[in-house]
Amino acid sequence: MSEETLSNLSREDRSFEPPAELAAHANVKEEAYERAAPDREAYWAEQAERLDWDRKWDRVLDWDNPPFAKWFVGGRLNAAYNCVDRHVEAGNGGKVALHWVGEPLDDTRTITYADLQDEVCKAANALTALGVESGDRVAIYLPMIPEAVVAMLACARIGAPHTVVFGGFSSDALASRLADCQAKVVITSDGGYRRGAASALKPAVDHARAKASEDGFDVEHVLVVRRTGQEVDWDDSVDVWWHDVVDSASAEHACEFFDAEHPLYVMYTSGTTGKPKGILHTTGGYLTGTSFTHWAVFDLKPDTDVYWCTADIGWVTGHSYIVYGPLANGATQVMYEGTPDAPEKGRWWQIIQDYGVTLFYTAPTAIRTFMKQGREIPDKFDLSSLRLLGSVGESINPEAYMWYREVIGGERAPIVDTWWQTETGAMMISPLPGVTAGKPGSAMRPLPGIEADVVDEVGESVPNGSGGYLVVKRPWPAMLRTIWGDDERFVDTYWSRFRKQGYYFAGDGAKKDDDGDIWLLGRVDDVMNVSGHRLSTTEIESALVSHPKVAEAAVVGAADDTTGQAVCAFVILRDSAGDGGADIVEELRRHVQKEIGAIAKPRQIMIVPELPKTRSGKIMRRLLKDIAEHREVGDVTTLADSSVMTLISEGLSSGKAED
Ligand code: ATP
Ligand code: MG
Repeated sequence: MSEETLSNLSREDRSFEPPAELAAHANVKEEAYERAAPDREAYWAEQAERLDWDRKWDRVLDWDNPPFAKWFVGGRLNAAYNCVDRHVEAGNGGKVALHWVGEPLDDTRTITYADLQDEVCKAANALTALGVESGDRVAIYLPMIPEAVVAMLACARIGAPHTVVFGGFSSDALASRLADCQAKVVITSDGGYRRGAASALKPAVDHARAKASEDGFDVEHVLVVRRTGQEVDWDDSVDVWWHDVVDSASAEHACEFFDAEHPLYVMYTSGTTGKPKGILHTTGGYLTGTSFTHWAVFDLKPDTDVYWCTADIGWVTGHSYIVYGPLANGATQVMYEGTPDAPEKGRWWQIIQDYGVTLFYTAPTAIRTFMKQGREIPDKFDLSSLRLLGSVGESINPEAYMWYREVIGGERAPIVDTWWQTETGAMMISPLPGVTAGKPGSAMRPLPGIEADVVDEVGESVPNGSGGYLVVKRPWPAMLRTIWGDDERFVDTYWSRFRKQGYYFAGDGAKKDDDGDIWLLGRVDDVMNVSGHRLSTTEIESALVSHPKVAEAAVVGAADDTTGQAVCAFVILRDSAGDGGADIVEELRRHVQKEIGAIAKPRQIMIVPELPKTRSGKIMRRLLKDIAEHREVGDVTTLADSSVMTLISEGLSSGKAED
């Protein structure tokens, strides 16, 4: 390996100052960084005061037995009380918590905080009647309907950790999660609406339950919400209708307060790199981290903002930034059941226009899809209510950032590119919209209270202008506490690479630019070694996306006789580019060379109709690497659409993809 840890190829000179008006009234100002740095624990204790505690903590952080952290030791609180009841008690019961939008047109519900309180209390009573006690696990397998939020909060209210399984997952994926966390009850629905059709969920639960049972684990009850009205098989000894037991339950429920370290939920990672890990989050630190970051990074003004996060509650983003963060902050938000293109491509923009959404949080994969379709679609709508845009999930390519900024944000709304993980629970590196001059493609600086850095092989901080490993140097409140049932895997996975220094290693590569701002460069597992240069995927992908004919790109390293590894790129063209023209491959190779240098010029570029993505929209590069190296394609179980791999392979053999 060469002395460089990770090459720094691209330069970006654009930068956007915060809007003056936003900066003047920002929730968090520059001084927060200075105040937090000398005493992070004191800073987090101050943020924990945002919550209502039944009993205050005796000690902010117990790090006596690293890497097993305890935050707000001795404190007691209830997460659901913090997300719901306290807003009602403060006189905001009539305020809208959820503007829920179903996929079928005109299928909407408006749910106030008082409504939410009633529903959560009823569901808590119903779960208790089904035998669920504090500490029991409950699996939630639901579409994006209000009952999903109610179910999560009802579990939190009675101290039963939930594990939400994405509604698009198969019965096998559900079965393995049920068994892994030994869920006593599953909450599901008959089905949900996706792409204009009712799609069934209950049969997958029936299969999963049977499968778990064969493996010796029995689910006690399945609580079923009626959403689509489709036929379901019914087992009277297990299945109960939500409308039978929840609707008839009492709306009075005195909540119990739990230890700050009481388990709140187990969430399985999205599985981009391998088998998902059951990440455990606990109550006090997690709620502090999510509520603070949601308020600081989105500059939430709860009385006037309408917030919308497009994630599914099956992902951590849905947990932290649909349920716990926003509701703890008393926000009004939009929740949407369906896909962006149902019944028509402009559906999301229609919703923003209809509800006057001011804060919008989505993923680069969605933005690139809209870029591919062309700006004519969003241009038909009035998006002037938007005052801030967020991005999460992958690095946002500078060109996608510019498109988001211009087309969706009207060059007015700043963009917060938020880096975090299922494991970190809450945002870690992000601009603060009233402070930071954002650079397209950079997540910028660790948030106040967070100590993250880019280090080399031996754990030394790299100088500005260099790349390396992204680490977190000090514990933070929303950090994972362990991998469910597997402390050893927890220690090995996250704390062994820099054991000596005691750093958490996130798996991601990053660089610091000349100003010390942080740029995420993709997974270190995906780093390519080309003639001794360690190249990251992100910069080459972004160079490709900066070509006007390109909408999306994925880059992998394939074995090469002369250079060790060679860059192979898979590219989706914009609709407006047609087939790209006869010379498209050469044109793109030259473009990469011009943008970031000859060393990064792809050996091979394949024009493809789709890319393999996880259900949360992340590109699965390891599958593309299999193709590039002519291997049989590996585990595809976390793939959103397995036919994509067939499409790509067929395209390759029919000669549509060029060398
Ligand atoms: P698994 O760990 O099972 O492979 P996963 O890492 O894809 O799955 P998540 O926890 O959902 O599961 O994703 C976190 C990862 O997403 C980060 O480690 C990082 O690679 C990427 N990521 C998230 N936000 C950003 C961002 N703003 N910029 C760059 N990368 C990001
Ligand atoms: Mg991960």
